[in-house]
Order: sequence, then structure tokens, then C-alpha cells
Amino acid sequence: MTNQPHATNDVDVPARVLAISAHPDDSELQAGGTLAKWAAAGSEISIVVCTDGSKGTWDPHADLSDLIATRQSEQREAAARLGATGTVGFCEWVDGELVHSRANVGVLAAWIRRLQPTIVLSHDPWKRYRLHPDHRAAGFLVTDAIVAARDPHFFPEHEHAYHRPDELWLFEADEPNHAESVNGWVDQKIQALEAHKSQLESTMHIDPNDEAHGRAAFAQLMQDTALAAGSLFDRGPSETFHRLTDL
Ligand SMILES: [Zn+2]
Repeated sequence: MTNQPHATNDVDVPARVLAISAHPDDSELQAGGTLAKWAAAGSEISIVVCTDGSKGTWDPHADLSDLIATRQSEQREAAARLGATGTVGFCEWVDGELVHSRANVGVLAAWIRRLQPTIVLSHDPWKRYRLHPDHRAAGFLVTDAIVAARDPHFFPEHEHAYHRPDELWLFEADEPNHAESVNGWVDQKIQALEAHKSQLESTMHIDPNDEAHGRAAFAQLMQDTALAAGSLFDRGPSETFHRLTDL
């Protein structure tokens, strides 16, 4: 990748923020430092999770309804650790089977209309060579939900009036054009991620038999990732996004 010195950085603190992720933990992993920083500065942070997280185990004998409940409580704890004071919502669509449909666009548009975010964050649906279908589907659902939420003739049956967010920030972006400084906020991001205790092994690659070493390695990886992201733009520790400002 080449340096992109013309990228924007650190915006004014948004009043209300909605992060929409495919799975529990995606918002923390991709934007946890940014969300923690904004929460501390007074943003109302909400997180909506599209799927039920029921594929998130390597145990073939796991009780999946237990896993779904566990992952919802982990997501609430992670949001609390970020300092999020808004809503934590769950669409409860089946993990790994997220599809684009008018009905699903309507559900996400209803969340946007209800929560009235200044900035929406979600997956970049145009990221090349991405394997995970839920991340791609979530990205397209959210981009389409933005259009539906902003215009009055989409889903007129919705309870709340139409709402146009100021900006959409796509995380794990194919072409990042914005770096948000997370200098000093990565530790809180790590603490939020570690709230997803059921994912320590499968997502964070922390060996339960050598947990102290695994946690230290994961923390270092998060710090290194923030440094690498910022270095793309000749900046310090950052999270990067593709920022859309013409909604
Ligand atoms: Zn995910």
C-alpha cells in the first residue's frame, strides 16, 4: 500500500454514533478505539449486531442457544467497557447465513431512524477478496439501509421519521481515506474485546492453556495493528476507514 497523505483525520466528536456489525466483536475489533474515544468525549454510542453469533465456536457439541445468549451478554459488556451509553441491539439473523433482502434493509433502516446517528459505521461491502459472507452482506445491507432511512417514501410504515446521517464510515476498508487517532485508546479497545470471552480462542487466538501469554500477544497485535494503520498516513496509532460524507 502507498501512503495517502491527503486522507482526512480526527473529526469533531459526533453527537450520536451507530456501529452496525455482522457479529458480536466486529465493532470493537474494527473501531473500538474510536468508539471509546468518542464515548469519553460525550458521544452517545449505539451498537447493533446483525447475526446471532451462533457459528462462533470450534466446539462441534456446543449448545447454540446458550452460545447466542452468551454472545449477547458479552456484547453488552463490551459496549459498557467502551463507555457506550446508547442502545445495544440484536437483529438475531442466523450467523453465517446473512442475506441481502428488502426486509433486512428495512430492519436496519428502522434502527437508523430510531437512533438518529450522526455517523454510522459498518463493514466495507466493496472490500476485495473478502471471504466472510456476513461481512459483505452486512456492508450492503447497511449502505442500502442508509438510502432507505434518509428518504421518506421508503418503509413509510416505520414508527420513526426518516433520518439522514451525516456520514458513513466503512471499516476494514478496501481503500481507507480517513485515519482516526486512537493514541491512548487501544488499551480500552483490548478490554472491550476481552469481554467477548467465548471468542478468546477462535477470534483472538488465545490458547486457554497458556492464557497469560496469549493475552499479551493479542494486546501487542492490537497495538501493532493501530501503529500500522496510522503509518499508512504518516500518523500515530489509528483506526482507518473509508469515509463517505455525501449521503
Ligand atoms: Zn465478523
